[in-house]
Amino acid sequence: MVTERSAENIELWGNDLALDFVNTVEGPRGEPPEKDHLRSYADLVAWARHAGALPESARPARGDLAPARELRAAIYDVFAALATGGRPPRAALAALLRVHADAVREGSLEHGDWVWTGRHRDRPLWPIAVAAVDLLRSDRLDRLKMCGNCCWLFLDRSRNGSRRWCSMDECGVHTKMRRYRAARRG
Ligand SMILES: [Zn+2]
Repeated sequence: MVTERSAENIELWGNDLALDFVNTVEGPRGEPPEKDHLRSYADLVAWARHAGALPESARPARGDLAPARELRAAIYDVFAALATGGRPPRAALAALLRVHADAVREGSLEHGDWVWTGRHRDRPLWPIAVAAVDLLRSDRLDRLKMCGNCCWLFLDRSRNGSRRWCSMDECGVHTKMRRYRAARRG
């Protein structure tokens, strides 16, 4: 039996919080997303807990989803461009940096980690924006890739940099099956 994907259980295959956040939508590579797992502010909070961006004890004030969707689109535009050899669009980078500025202003550092307290409704977004900017400034960025089959982004941690799909079991198998069928037909 296959469990339906949801905000609470969606796979975290991005190897980075910011990329996992982008991967809360699904769809074929290069096409508009088919499915969005963040359909309410409650989904955002559930996902942030699942991904470790928000402590279980944190109870942010209820907000709407628009700022989260905006941040997600900005992070996608920046990293999808980089993953495919382009330059990050200025507007997307500026949108990311605005949330990052809020995060820095509202946060403090403890033992080298950002911490936020309080019930601000944007709190789930702050660790994500910080993760995205950290990644942009990191040499881990060399490992950034987009799945060969779907729109998901990930850092390739394989020793020889040979990972091509978000997951071998999902997109890897689909791609291989499709090629196999095409070869048989041909
Ligand atoms: Zn994929």
